[in-house]
Amino acid sequence: MLTTATTSHPVVIIGAGPIGLAAAAQLSERGLPFVVLEAGSTAAAAITDWGHTRLFSPWQYNLDAAAQRLLEASGWIAPDSEALPTGHELREQYLEPLAHLPQIAESIRYDARVTAVSRAGMDKTRTARREETPFLVRIETADGYSDDVLASAVIDASGTWSAPNPLGQAGLLAPGERQALAAGRITPPLPDVQGRDRERVAGKRVMVTGAGHSAANTLLDLAELDAATTIIWAVRTADLTRVYGGGEQDELAARGALGSRLRQLVDSGRIEVLTSFTITHFSLEDSLTVHAVTPNGEREVSVDVLVPATGFRPDLGMLAELRLNLDPAVEAPTQLGPLIDPEFHSCGSVEPHGERVLSHPEKNFYIVGMKSYGRAPTFLMATGYEQVRSIAAALAGDREAADAVHLELPETGVCTTDLGGSCDAPAPADDACCSSSPQMIELSVGR
Ligand SMILES: Cc1cc2nc3c(=O)[nH]c(=O)nc-3n(C[C@H](O)[C@H](O)[C@H](O)COP(=O)(O)OP(=O)(O)OC[C@H]3O[C@@H](n4cnc5c(N)ncnc54)[C@H](O)[C@@H]3O)c2cc1C
Repeated sequence: MLTTATTSHPVVIIGAGPIGLAAAAQLSERGLPFVVLEAGSTAAAAITDWGHTRLFSPWQYNLDAAAQRLLEASGWIAPDSEALPTGHELREQYLEPLAHLPQIAESIRYDARVTAVSRAGMDKTRTARREETPFLVRIETADGYSDDVLASAVIDASGTWSAPNPLGQAGLLAPGERQALAAGRITPPLPDVQGRDRERVAGKRVMVTGAGHSAANTLLDLAELDAATTIIWAVRTADLTRVYGGGEQDELAARGALGSRLRQLVDSGRIEVLTSFTITHFSLEDSLTVHAVTPNGEREVSVDVLVPATGFRPDLGMLAELRLNLDPAVEAPTQLGPLIDPEFHSCGSVEPHGERVLSHPEKNFYIVGMKSYGRAPTFLMATGYEQVRSIAAALAGDREAADAVHLELPETGVCTTDLGGSCDAPAPADDACCSSSPQMIELSVGR
């Protein structure tokens, strides 16, 4: 709950993505003042980058309840609950109308990138009166100036889109990776290969790395380009069976169809697969040479361009002056880490969780949304909506509502195109995602 010493300042929400905007809607309903600081010049700036991709969960799981109430009061009509929108449709049909509602629009500041969060007048080492001291949120504006915003509480919903995992082994950038990126030989994640980024790949020798949803989508899109486009799919895993799914026998028709298409393209030779392929370094001449180790020894593959699809990690640099409690492996809040560890959990098997699980020693500071899952690739918007509902209730002093955590996850709906069991990264060995029959997971716990 906010203390009287800090309530003269708004709650700062970092990021106007789906979870940041849902936090705004929840706080608006609770009557708590807030400011959304968004790095981009529009709402859902990160989704704009991957907007050509179709979501794997239908509309009914992509809307926040408070946001929907505010929108419907303005005459907005919800899209078909069973349809699967693209990222662009999610933004145009839901997030932009939400961001334009007067209750929210007047509290969003665009082109305001948060570079640091601290407590006004005190660094991380100072304890006396810490909890009553407002947060200081430093922003950098589009013209390069810095500005400070004081806050009663901070909800970091800045996502992980700007921090893709490096391609090198051991979680590190491979030698030569930075230069290959600068030279445009490595694309941003999820390029629009049939539209905006077509020229970068059409007729070229293209390598795709990763074995998740993003890699599958990119490979299928590339295969629809003309036959002059050479497609190489490099994965760290030794066996692609799990990535393909169960084909015609698959319990989930859409997943089976997607996996079957991918398998056919591999079997027909349209896509060349390199398994057990661990990138060691890159060298750059006329083309990009990818150096790797495989069980059969060292390997060099020359390509024109490489498309990375190996997941994301949180950028924690701007939070260095805060007292955080993060899981040492997953980099999610400590109590959340074991609930979402991708070695043991899938998209649909994460327990619902709220303010208590997401709290840190730094009172009234929360990481939510995609970033709250740290390096785990299994985040779902529905989970994030429940996170911010609970946090808004706690900040408003409604402990009962904050603790009544409730979530319905569509186990099949989230996994229909989720090849290999992870949403956006290489399939972990023991992931059980999507193996159960179609069903709803309904969980209601006090946390
Ligand atoms: C290709 C793809 C498909 C997905 N499909 C689904 C799906 O079908 N169903 C599902 O439930 N989930 C899906 N997800 C996962 C997840 O729900 C989405 O990534 C969702 O957009 C996460 O919402 P978010 O608000 O946490 O972060 P984001 O959408 O990334 O929004 C973060 C916002 O913060 C801004 N920002 C970043 N840094 C700063 C900063 N320092 N200061 C200020 N602002 C900043 C960004 O510009 C952005 O607007 C998918 C993810 C991807 C990548």
